[in-house]
Amino acid sequence: MVKTNSLIYKTYKMEKIEHIGIAVKDLNASISLFEQLLNTNCYKIEEVESEGVQTAFFATGPNKIELVASTKEDSPIAKFIERNGEGIHHIAFKTQDIRKEMERLAAAGFELLNEEPKKGADGQLVCFLHPKSSNGVLIELCQDDPDFKA
Ligand code: ZN
Repeated sequence: MVKTNSLIYKTYKMEKIEHIGIAVKDLNASISLFEQLLNTNCYKIEEVESEGVQTAFFATGPNKIELVASTKEDSPIAKFIERNGEGIHHIAFKTQDIRKEMERLAAAGFELLNEEPKKGADGQLVCFLHPKSSNGVLIELCQDDPDFKA
């Protein structure tokens, strides 16, 4: 028996896992490691100044791996590594309409960490959900930024 509300949710769903974010201490060392592991080159290194991070991307089929290293002592990534060590930091989902998804999730009781989508790395608009809303997993919503020029 299918519950009525699951039918409603299924009319609009996240497209795919866009990327998995991994917190690392030494970006260059981890780029070498992941190039070896994935047998592919890092295709982009990008600093996101507002977040105090430097990111490195790998294409893995339809998804990506994002390595995230801190550029500031007090950035959220630096604090995460201090508490948990290196490791999986967040899972990012691709949405068709990030504002609509933010509205839906806020109405469902999820705590959004920003009220408006922000410019993230690799041409994405992003919004994070507080991990306490989602079984301890930091979730990032993504949408292709229509203003992004590669
Ligand atoms: Zn990310």
